[in-house]
Amino acid sequence: MHFSALWPYLGLPPEKVSFVYWASMLMGYVSDGAYYCRGGFHKFADSLVTGLKQAGGEIYFKSKVSKINVCDNRVQSVLLASGQVIQAETVISNADMLQTVHDMVGKEYFPKRYLSRLQRMQTSCSIFVVYIATDLDLVQAGAHHEAFYYHELNHEVNYNNALQGEVSWMSVTVPTLLDDGLAPKGEHLIVLTALANYDQAENWQQAKADYMKKMLDFADSKINNLKSHILFIEAGSPATMQRYTLNNKGAAYGWAMTPEQVGASRIANKAPIEGLYFAGHWTMPGGGVYGVSYSGVQTAQKVLGLTRQDELWALCASTDGEL
Ligand SMILES: Cc1cc2nc3c(=O)[nH]c(=O)nc-3n(C[C@H](O)[C@H](O)[C@H](O)COP(=O)(O)OP(=O)(O)OC[C@H]3O[C@@H](n4cnc5c(N)ncnc54)[C@H](O)[C@@H]3O)c2cc1C
Repeated sequence: MHFSALWPYLGLPPEKVSFVYWASMLMGYVSDGAYYCRGGFHKFADSLVTGLKQAGGEIYFKSKVSKINVCDNRVQSVLLASGQVIQAETVISNADMLQTVHDMVGKEYFPKRYLSRLQRMQTSCSIFVVYIATDLDLVQAGAHHEAFYYHELNHEVNYNNALQGEVSWMSVTVPTLLDDGLAPKGEHLIVLTALANYDQAENWQQAKADYMKKMLDFADSKINNLKSHILFIEAGSPATMQRYTLNNKGAAYGWAMTPEQVGASRIANKAPIEGLYFAGHWTMPGGGVYGVSYSGVQTAQKVLGLTRQDELWALCASTDGEL
């Protein structure tokens, strides 16, 4: 019961989530501990950018890829929405997989079996997030860095209620309790998170305010007086997640993390087109920051033809990052 209380981390309740993926996540916490990026999670992305630039890479921001051009079953180039064409023998996509296969490459380049397998895959649910700045003394209020609250003891019920649009569970995260540099003295940041079903609302722009209010009421019942100490509040709905990530229906973890869709059962890192690879939460091994980081390592090995991971690290060290 207590072990399974962290089920929202993988977006599925105990009855549905892959036990192996769940157990490896939990063992990570038990053996290595849980880590927090000082300065906020963006620091993690920043460090990847630094590494890529040090290795001679170039990053294009706000540059949508419209097409991945293929000829004779081999990747040729990438077309940006700006019209720029970038020649490439290897393309690694971490964009939404259906978008990559159907729109960027084109269904006609993939075997029928591959397409029908994609059709059968189930997408994970999305997330509704409320971002708050408050001048409430959260240390005195007894708040924790991260706490999970549930209406029901049965997690399947909480999950099903969440899919119906109820706020039946929620996590309350207070990053400033660990990292006080994130807010001015005497103020705190709070992030309220709940799983949400993209299809539950016809128009999230209209539904957003009501959903945010429900989340805030729930949080106020756990943190006394929160509502009267709000300096700033904003929310991100499943439509927001879709808009910023272009993941289908704001899917938070790519394909749902069921036993049939994780690890070796997820879509392989190498596509059936020469030079096309996948990284991220739509491919092996699975979703979440750890899973997608690992998929990046796996895919790098495949591109370089290295069977063992230590060969990759040795190569990185010997070339000073320049591959
Ligand atoms: C609100 C929220 C909270 C989460 N919290 C956690 C957590 O606490 N811990 C955890 O482990 N996981 C968490 N997850 C899940 C985790 O964030 C994802 O599994 C992970 O970030 C996926 O990484 P990715 O690289 O596969 O894809 P993404 O992070 O979705 O990145 C895909 C990128 O591709 C870009 N893109 C898409 N299409 C195109 C295109 N055509 N051209 C150019 N660029 C394109 C997008 O803009 C985006 O930047 C959370 C997810 C959400 C939504």
